[in-house]
Amino acid sequence: MAESVELPSRLGILPFRNKVLLPGAIIRIRCTSPSSVKLVEQELWQREEKGLIGILPVRDAAESTTAVGPVLSQGVGSDSGERSSRIQVGTSDSQRLDVKNQQEIIHWHTRGVAARALHLSRGVEKPSGRVTYIVVLEGLCRFSVQELSTRGTYYTARISPLEMTKADMEQVEQDPDFITLSRQFKATATELISILEQKQKTGGRTKVLLETVPVHKLADIFVASFEISFEEQLSMLDSVDLKVRLSKATELVDRHLQSIRVAEKITQKVEGQLSKSQKEFLLRQQMRAIKEELGDNDDDEDDVAALERKMQSAGMPSNIWKHAQRELRRLKKMQPQQPGYNSSRVYLELLADLPWQKVTEEHELDLKAAKEHLDSDHYGLHKVKQRIIEYLAVRKLKPDARGPVLCFVGPPGVGKTSLASSIAAALGRKFMRISLGGVKDEADIRGHRRTYIGSMPGRLIDGLKRVAVCNPVMLLDEIDKTGSDVRGDPASALLEVLDPEQNKTFNDHYLNVPFDLSKVVFVATANRVQPIPPALLDRMEVIELPGYTPEEKLKIALRHLIPRVLDQHGLSSEFLQIPEDMVKLVIQRYTREAGVRNLERNLAALARAAAVRVAEQEQAVPLSKDVHQLTSPLLENRLADGGEVEMEVIPMAVNNHELSNTFRIASPLVVDEAMLEKVLGPPRFDDREAAERVATPGVSVGLVWTTFGGEVQFVEATSMVGTGELHLTGQLGDVIKESAQIALTWVRARAADLKLAASDEINILEGRDIHIHFPAGAVPKDGPSAGVTLVTALVSLFSHKRVRADTAMTGEMTLRGLVLPVGGVKDKILAAHRCGITRVILPERNLKDLVEVPAAVLASLEILLAKRMEDVLEQAFEGGCPWRQHSKL
Ligand code: ADP
Repeated sequence: MAESVELPSRLGILPFRNKVLLPGAIIRIRCTSPSSVKLVEQELWQREEKGLIGILPVRDAAESTTAVGPVLSQGVGSDSGERSSRIQVGTSDSQRLDVKNQQEIIHWHTRGVAARALHLSRGVEKPSGRVTYIVVLEGLCRFSVQELSTRGTYYTARISPLEMTKADMEQVEQDPDFITLSRQFKATATELISILEQKQKTGGRTKVLLETVPVHKLADIFVASFEISFEEQLSMLDSVDLKVRLSKATELVDRHLQSIRVAEKITQKVEGQLSKSQKEFLLRQQMRAIKEELGDNDDDEDDVAALERKMQSAGMPSNIWKHAQRELRRLKKMQPQQPGYNSSRVYLELLADLPWQKVTEEHELDLKAAKEHLDSDHYGLHKVKQRIIEYLAVRKLKPDARGPVLCFVGPPGVGKTSLASSIAAALGRKFMRISLGGVKDEADIRGHRRTYIGSMPGRLIDGLKRVAVCNPVMLLDEIDKTGSDVRGDPASALLEVLDPEQNKTFNDHYLNVPFDLSKVVFVATANRVQPIPPALLDRMEVIELPGYTPEEKLKIALRHLIPRVLDQHGLSSEFLQIPEDMVKLVIQRYTREAGVRNLERNLAALARAAAVRVAEQEQAVPLSKDVHQLTSPLLENRLADGGEVEMEVIPMAVNNHELSNTFRIASPLVVDEAMLEKVLGPPRFDDREAAERVATPGVSVGLVWTTFGGEVQFVEATSMVGTGELHLTGQLGDVIKESAQIALTWVRARAADLKLAASDEINILEGRDIHIHFPAGAVPKDGPSAGVTLVTALVSLFSHKRVRADTAMTGEMTLRGLVLPVGGVKDKILAAHRCGITRVILPERNLKDLVEVPAAVLASLEILLAKRMEDVLEQAFEGGCPWRQHSKL
């Protein structure tokens, strides 16, 4: 600690810009400017005994060494009563200073602090070679500047000490004001020290200071350790009077104390908030423990406990139960607000909801009853029903037999789905349907891993959760419509599902534990067999359901669809009758489909129209009592006429509601042709279509096969002035485009034989372009079976002869004119029959396929078999093929 020192009368001066060194304070500075380096060198470094320098605050930002005309100004808050004064620096020295900065003024403070160096170190900067010093200075005592002058590049000052003498001190110490002030200061300082020591957990070393160091020095030491403004530092420096110094120091220490307290309060508050949530967590844990202890089963009990109970009763296999418990323990440790809590909960809910062991009890299978059930639900389909009965019989004899999966293949609306649900009913099991149409993502079958955001189980596991038993009949609908892309191959996941060896441990990515699917009875449906991947097809037994003949459709409508539709609309035959003739008309004019879905839809439209009328009548029931009071004589006449009056002919003047209401009981609404047109619109198809379309040469009638079953397809060809090019339109695939080329080549090669050209040398395409169009452009078409149809259209075009309107054809043709067999014959023949075609030309080798065609259809058709293209042409034209007339084939 600084003891009292003897000050010399002159001191080298180190200016401190905007900073004050107070007595008792220790500071480390780096001197780099030439003047300060010089000062340190001469006043401190080169002295044998320890030297002193004066630290004088300056208020200016200007570089002190280059400044001239310095101004000594008195600091703020001076207690001496002196006014600001300017003291001119000795003129002889000042003239040696840099003259170009004559204008610059430095505000020197008139009071400074003498300091001694506690430590000095010298360094040389590379590469400039400049010398620098690092000096640790200790402030000793105040002085006042009498005169400022320069020595070389730095300033010196004539000074006089400001600290009190011993005698003065003793006198002041007697002063009661001073005693009170110093007591006050010490009290505040002690408080500050104890707070600081408490925070830093240090022993009472600083407190010793308070007892050993004189109070006026303490004041400086304390203030020097705070961060206070330059002005406050100056005013502290200027407080030469001890009482003033003490009261200022007390004020500053007190301010510092308050700021520490405020900061402490804020941290406490923050800590308090943190521990509140921790406290809450602890309390919750305790509450849970208490509830468990009490076996508390209140309604408002913790839902995690409810989840746990649900899990316990889910009948999970032991390894899965262990896994679930682990997950549950994790959940219990989490806060509901914590991320991951919800997903973990949803996952556990799924584990608890899945039917690990829950089954629908299978009653003893009664095959006769099952057959009756199938018969009562479906008309016809004898072969299919027979196969289903066989399947059920095997299951009866060997319940865990791993028979193949049944796959119903056929056009839409032929009863595939309803047959599957009949199987479920016959087995007495729950039925669920999973639509696979358009599924391209493997995750749809197998689920997403739980690491994904928004992950969920696949459709199978989700379906099982909904159906809540592990042995339902599960229909994999439209299995041919799954596709594969970058997101994986759903078909490979389905392979695992349908493989009896693998599906015992089906692994859903979301579930992440194996689930036993072996008790599920799988049934699949598809429109076509071809798109089903062979490996998948291998696991299935395909049962084809051909489309229905109009006669079958009629029977289905009368026996099944109409009763069902009426029932669905809250009607009965008492209100609505659809005569057989009208059903036939609906089949012929409004639907041309292989199945009966549109037929059912149209019948439902009729039922809706009737339902509206019936409902209107019911609303009008109270009015019906008053009908007789109506004064219209016309109305009375009508009523007297009886119930055969049609609604449409009711005179406008009479209230519709009242009249129809009256007729309701008398006669049901009978559908007639007019009502058909009114409800279903004008007929969409008629038998005249083929005749009208082939009325001009260049059009032929083909039979094609689409996902909707067989269809009649017209091919149009025309020629125009051009350069012999072939244009094709109508959404055609590559195969059909090639067929068109082959057809044109064949016709051109035989132009003379077919009497299309006078001789072989004549090019029938000379100066002409050919355009072939397949109408119904919105439907993509491909396949080779249009070959014969294309040739027929071209021959018709060139020969200007019309193709027979009653004849449709199908067959692939080779370049040499051979007719090759095609697929889907049964569907195509049914389609021809539906469209009122009476003659069908088929490749000879398709003869075998005719056994599948219902006899009734065959009886109404003339089937013509063709081996070569000439046979087709022979049958397609009225009067036969021109070639045939002179060539004997
Ligand atoms: P798919 O699954 O083949 O597309 P659906 O099974 O949905 O067709 O059948 C459509 C509608 O036709 C259903 O209401 C079904 O009951 C009915 N249906 C189809 N075929 C028959 C049939 N042979 N006998 C009775 N109703 C049938």
